[in-house]
Amino acid sequence: MSVKDNLIAFKEQLPDNVTLVAVSKTKPLPDLQEAIDAGQLILGENKIQELVGKHEALSKDVEWHMIGHVQTNKVKYIAPFVSLIHAVDSLKLLKEINKQALKHERVINCLLQIKIASEDSKFGLGKTDALQLLESKDFKALTNVQISGLMGMATFTEDEDQVRSEFKGLSDFMHQLQTGVLAGNHDFKILSMGMTNDFRIAIEEGSNMIRVGSAIFGARS
Ligand SMILES: *Cc1c(COP(=O)(O)O)cnc(C)c1O
Repeated sequence: MSVKDNLIAFKEQLPDNVTLVAVSKTKPLPDLQEAIDAGQLILGENKIQELVGKHEALSKDVEWHMIGHVQTNKVKYIAPFVSLIHAVDSLKLLKEINKQALKHERVINCLLQIKIASEDSKFGLGKTDALQLLESKDFKALTNVQISGLMGMATFTEDEDQVRSEFKGLSDFMHQLQTGVLAGNHDFKILSMGMTNDFRIAIEEGSNMIRVGSAIFGARS
């Protein structure tokens, strides 16, 4: 199957309220161009350098999402154009994004990455830390970042019940914030969860943005 065929077949099964981020990491430009030609204008990458290179090479109509971990000193490279940063996990990073966004006179949309997996992952905020961040004076003083929602990755396991309960936990936390500390912030609405192997469960648990690579572009070597 071609990228185009994969995309068409994949999108057919998605509910209308779910946004697809096509994850094109490691894939060559012609594959991305094929996705763009098929109407897929939201692409996700997980490495800054690759993201910048592909942004320069392809249509300016593409909305680029940074889905991987971002080092503070590299924010400057994506600040002029990035459309959504999925994996914000510290106030320090948020402050740098704000600083770079100010320079470019724009507001950068960000998701807080929340640790939901049982695996010992290096990245993501605990729920308590996320709450503390959102309630802090330092955060409230940031003018050029918008927290548009949350992102999470479930444990890599065959155990569907576990995956479901992790996604449900994130969904519940989203709701808690929407009715609590972020009540009134109507831009806080994106729940980014679900990849090729678990997007169905994620959607059932309330995801409205999935990040899917292999199912569209084929396995990565
Ligand atoms: C690679 C990646 C994906 C997509 O993974 P697939 O299994 O190929 O769908 C989603 N999210 C993040 C953060 C990734 O790094």
